[in-house]
Amino acid sequence: MEIAVFSTKKYDTIYLRPALEANGHHPQFLQTRLDNETIVLAEGYTAICIFVNDSLTARGIEHLAKKGLKYVLLRCAGYNNVDLDAADKCGVKVARVPAYSPYSVAEFAVGLMLMLNRNLHKAYTRVRAGNFSLEGLTGFDMRNRRIGIIGTGKIGLLTGKICRGFDSDVVCYDPYPNIDGAKQYGMRYVSLDELLATCDIISLHCPLLSSTHHMINSETLSKMKDGVMIINTSRGGLIDTVALIKALKSGKVGQVGMDVYENESSMYFEDSSDSIMLDDVFSRLLTFHNVCITGHQAFLTREALENIAQETASNLEDFLKG
Ligand code: NAD
Repeated sequence: MEIAVFSTKKYDTIYLRPALEANGHHPQFLQTRLDNETIVLAEGYTAICIFVNDSLTARGIEHLAKKGLKYVLLRCAGYNNVDLDAADKCGVKVARVPAYSPYSVAEFAVGLMLMLNRNLHKAYTRVRAGNFSLEGLTGFDMRNRRIGIIGTGKIGLLTGKICRGFDSDVVCYDPYPNIDGAKQYGMRYVSLDELLATCDIISLHCPLLSSTHHMINSETLSKMKDGVMIINTSRGGLIDTVALIKALKSGKVGQVGMDVYENESSMYFEDSSDSIMLDDVFSRLLTFHNVCITGHQAFLTREALENIAQETASNLEDFLKG
C-alpha cells in the first residue's frame, strides 16, 4: 500500500511509523504540510495521512482521486480541513480519530485557566530576570467561581469535571445536552445567554461548523462579565479575533488562553524561527500580556500520540477490509 504521511513532526515517525509498518505498510513521510502547492507530492498514493494544519480542498481531492487516491486518514478529531462532500463524490473514504485522548485536551484547558488566573506566565519570566516582585500577580480562588463550558462532548464534560474538583460552580451549554453526563460530573445546563452573562471563565469545546463560526463575536462578547477569561482549545474559527482584540483593548475581556486561532493552517509553528509566519491580526494578539497562546499542542501527550498512531493504523486496516 502506497501511503504518504504529511508531517513535519518527529513524534509521528516515532509513534505512527511503527504502527503502520506493523501491518506490513511502507509509509513515506513527507516533511511538509499538505496544501494546494504541495498537493503534487501526494499524486499516485493510494492513501494519504494528514493532520489539522493540512488542507484538502474539493479541487485537491478531485485531482488526487484521478491519480489513484482512495483513502484519507486524518490523525485528528476535527475534519473541517477536508472537503467531505468532494471526497464522497469522488469515492474517497475519509477516517478520523474521534477520541484519542479527551483527557489531554481537558487537562490543557484547565492548565491555561490556572496559568492565566495565577499569572504563572508572568511570574516565570520575571523570576528568570531576577525580579521577585508580586505586583500585578494576584489571582482568584477557583472555588465558587463560575466556569462555563460551551460544548459538552467528550472534552467539555471532562473539563467541567476537573473544574468541579476545585469546587467551582460549573454551568454548561450545548444544543444537544447530555443531561446524564453533566449531572454525573456535577454540572448543570443553562441558556447560552445565562452562561455568557454569569461566568468568570468561559471555555470553548464545540466543533467548528457554519453554525459555530464566530460564535464569540462583538455581540456575544458584550453579554459577558467584565474581565471574563476565555479559553479556546477547540478551533480558532469559533472566535472573531478582531472583535476579541477590541474586547481586550477595552478591558471587557480580562484574559485569553488560546491553543487554536483563526488562519492557523496558514501559519507554521515549527522548531526553527525561520518557518514562523504570522498574520497581522495574530501579531496584534501577541502584544497583549494577558493573552497566552500555544501552538495547537493541547492534544500532545504520550498517551494521545500512541492512541492516534494505533487508531490511524486500524482505520487503514478497516478500509482495506472494506
Ligand atoms: P465532541 O464531538 O465529543 O463534542 C462536541 C460538542 O459540541 C457536542 O456535544 C456538540 O453537541 C456540541 N456543539 C455543537 N454545536 C454547538 C454549539 N453551537 N454550541 C455549543 N455546543 C455545540 O468533540 P470533542 O472531542 O469534545 O472535541 C471538542 C473540540 O476540541 C473539537 O472542536 C475538536 O476539534 C477540538 N480538539 C482540539 C484539540 C487540540 O489539540 N487543541 C484536540 C482534540 C480536539
